[in-house]
Amino acid sequence: MNNYQPNERGYWGEFGGRFVPETLMFPLEELTEMYFSVRDDADFQAQFLQLLKDFSGRPTPLFHAQRLSEKLGGAQIYLKREDLGHTGSHKINNAIGQVLLARKMGKKRVIAETGAGQHGVATATVCALFGLECVVYMGTEDMRRQALNVFRMRLLGAEVRGVDSGSKTLKDAINEALRDWVTNVDSTYYLLGSALGPHPYPLMVRDFQSVIGREAREQIIEKTGSLPDCLVACVGGGSNAIGLFHPFLNDESVRMIGVEAGGKGNVLGEHAARFNEQGGGKIGVLQGTKSYLLQDTNGQIALTHSVSAGLDYASIGPEHSFLHSIKRAEYVSASDNEALDAFQILSQTEGIIPALESSHAIAYLQKLAPELSPAQTIICNLSGRGDKDVNQVQEMLLTK
Ligand SMILES: *Cc1c(COP(=O)(O)O)cnc(C)c1O
Repeated sequence: MNNYQPNERGYWGEFGGRFVPETLMFPLEELTEMYFSVRDDADFQAQFLQLLKDFSGRPTPLFHAQRLSEKLGGAQIYLKREDLGHTGSHKINNAIGQVLLARKMGKKRVIAETGAGQHGVATATVCALFGLECVVYMGTEDMRRQALNVFRMRLLGAEVRGVDSGSKTLKDAINEALRDWVTNVDSTYYLLGSALGPHPYPLMVRDFQSVIGREAREQIIEKTGSLPDCLVACVGGGSNAIGLFHPFLNDESVRMIGVEAGGKGNVLGEHAARFNEQGGGKIGVLQGTKSYLLQDTNGQIALTHSVSAGLDYASIGPEHSFLHSIKRAEYVSASDNEALDAFQILSQTEGIIPALESSHAIAYLQKLAPELSPAQTIICNLSGRGDKDVNQVQEMLLTK
């Protein structure tokens, strides 16, 4: 049995590690020590689970999507309903875990980066709950695309700082957040939003999100009497996917499939599919971690594109690169148009409007489910709800 833990330097195989300026080495070491001390601490874990339950509404249901299963004509599809958690996505699980850690470390100020705004909203929410100062960095292009989430964060008492450099999106927001952290490291906790960045973040975020897979495993056994045949989840940085996958990694019969953003096409710049090697995906270092990332032939980080801001990032969490390298998980992509179709199909067959990110996972079900038999089961992680995306989809459908 493999326990799928990184080594003491934060590597899964050759992926992960800690590629940061010298000034961040000590704070990251301190964070790692603190994290390992709470990881097995019964009080901390009990407090975490209590908040997941009473504040966020866990466990989230596992829903048998019968009409979708019939329509696709193959496997039985079960949706893990992260869309029903507080603030509308899985991001709250990690925000709760890390804010508890920040409090434990005596930090009064929390900073975060955000792309679509979901992580910023989750962080602002938990900071409000505990009366912590909260600053969220967000690219000005993302602020324009996700204006409602900017308002939500401000309403929750957070300060949103626009980042005007580079492509004015997530990557640039992370750079600014890291810069803030270097300057204010004594008072400030950096709450990273996905299974990315320098050690211990990919490990810590994965652990906090693994509640998804632990619940799903129990729920599917209760409903069907057996393990699922397949797991499917969309992969931006990779936190909702690794959270679902991790508790099943030692169940060899369970296939797991991550769905990346195929965007508009295969050419570098048109997508965010990091494992698409023809499309520019190669091993490299970005924002503290070694993983697959989209780069041009000179090693410059490429621009990315996706209809969903939450999947629009040039790199992917290092544990996914490891699972890809040992072929324990498979990675595929769904295009903008396929996601847009899936957004409407799930709305119309099940009465559930999915986030555009999650719609990529739903889109892939249209290929996968018909290849399986009705006696087989798929758990698809519905990472978030689509309320934030309805205006954007409306515009896209009008101009299509
Ligand atoms: C942020 C987000 C994602 C992508 O992030 P991961 O870390 O890959 O999970 C996916 N779905 C939703 C709803 C999101 O908000």
